[in-house]
Amino acid sequence: MEPTIVTLGTGGGPIARSERAETSTAILVDHRTYLVDAGAGTLLRLAAAHIPLSSIAGIFITHYHIDHTGDLPALIGTRWVNRIYAPLPIVGPPGVEDITSGICRFLEPTRQARTGKIDAAPTPCSTLVPVTLKGPLREFDGKDFRLTAVLNTHYHGETARAAESLSFRFEFPHKTLYFTGDTGPSSAIISHANGSDTLISEVIDEEKMRIYLKAHYPNMNSSEMKALLVHMTSEHLTPLQVGELAKQTHVNSVILTHIVPGLDAETDDSQYTSGVKSQFTGPVYLSHDLMCFGSGSDHKI
Ligand SMILES: [Zn+2]
Ligand SMILES: [Zn+2]
Repeated sequence: MEPTIVTLGTGGGPIARSERAETSTAILVDHRTYLVDAGAGTLLRLAAAHIPLSSIAGIFITHYHIDHTGDLPALIGTRWVNRIYAPLPIVGPPGVEDITSGICRFLEPTRQARTGKIDAAPTPCSTLVPVTLKGPLREFDGKDFRLTAVLNTHYHGETARAAESLSFRFEFPHKTLYFTGDTGPSSAIISHANGSDTLISEVIDEEKMRIYLKAHYPNMNSSEMKALLVHMTSEHLTPLQVGELAKQTHVNSVILTHIVPGLDAETDDSQYTSGVKSQFTGPVYLSHDLMCFGSGSDHKI
């Protein structure tokens, strides 16, 4: 069975918006749901997409920036209180043990407040299966797919020594999906993504983000602002860079998500798509929350 992709949250950030939740993408296959990232708003968007919490069979986190993890406590806590006790793999780079154990500590007062009502229920922790992607292969064998991951270029210098950011290749029997996660240009991604069917990529409009940051971070000093702008311009992908990546990896289609800044008032999608289309001739989709792609949808991938 071919997977269907649902873009639950399409905003990169963190920026609080009404029209775009923070980053999360669902892959649906044979009544199972796999989440790639779980930014703030994921729980609400799952409900809007009529995707039951009980169908979630794994959560895959590319890296631990808050726009990719913000709704993990809500998902795990709500799932647990709703008596969904199937084991849930939480898969990501080193740090996933800290993330899951921290959420369990966060939920412990909630569990204590319920003692006596759900005596036989397992603890939230007992249903979670943290899986660290490490070693040269960084792989995970799921029921429906094989996942491999590579280090990307979202982190440099001191940050790269302390943390890892990954890109994911999901190989389903008849479709390969590639998630860039957050990254700058990366030769590792070009090799790893080669021959995928669909590239699900982040994208940034650097000039718009520069204007946004200067307007919204008035208390940031000039050296902090300079460092943030370097991060935004060298550790993310412009539309032109996404197009080059799509061309170099010979994918069939591109879905843009993690739109930055992706503000509510934006109406012109071409600011994100035209640079991609200048390099790549296949279908290029600028996603909005709750769009469907692939099997059973109008958007072919
Ligand atoms: Zn991000
Ligand atoms: Zn990030």
